[in-house]
Amino acid sequence: MALRQIVKIGDPALRKHARPVEKFGQRLHTLLDDMAQTMYDANGCGLAAPQVGILQRAVVIDMGGEDDHLVELVNPQIVSAEGEEESTEGCLSVPDRRGYVVRPVRVTVRAQNRCGMPIELTGEGMFARCICHELDHLDGRLYVDIMTREAEKGEEDAGEDA
Ligand SMILES: [Zn+2]
Repeated sequence: MALRQIVKIGDPALRKHARPVEKFGQRLHTLLDDMAQTMYDANGCGLAAPQVGILQRAVVIDMGGEDDHLVELVNPQIVSAEGEEESTEGCLSVPDRRGYVVRPVRVTVRAQNRCGMPIELTGEGMFARCICHELDHLDGRLYVDIMTREAEKGEEDAGEDA
């Protein structure tokens, strides 16, 4: 495993549409392993492949907590979303800023795992927010594009960036 460099706002990779993953071999596994290590190193709760300059539809998420575990989503698609909630979020590619974004309260996502097997999971609250944030990265969208307003310093909890 190796740390990858997280690209920052202004880098064209963050504005491109990522391609579907078609090969589920060692190259993908190495990418996912590196992304997880890079996310943990940066104290983030999520990371999408375009954030390390790779235009493929793959994300990693780890919300920590009780049964903390790493979630890997390849070719993810949101198949249902419920509710709306405005809260703050931040992004490892947009340092030192946070903003308020309206996101669904609950989302169900279909994806593939690192071996290409279909998976489906439902997330609520911050997990749902993180899923939406990461999937936006796959389509070249950043939270600053859709935030309702910038959070002032110290105005909101210091949640993890994604
Ligand atoms: Zn982000």
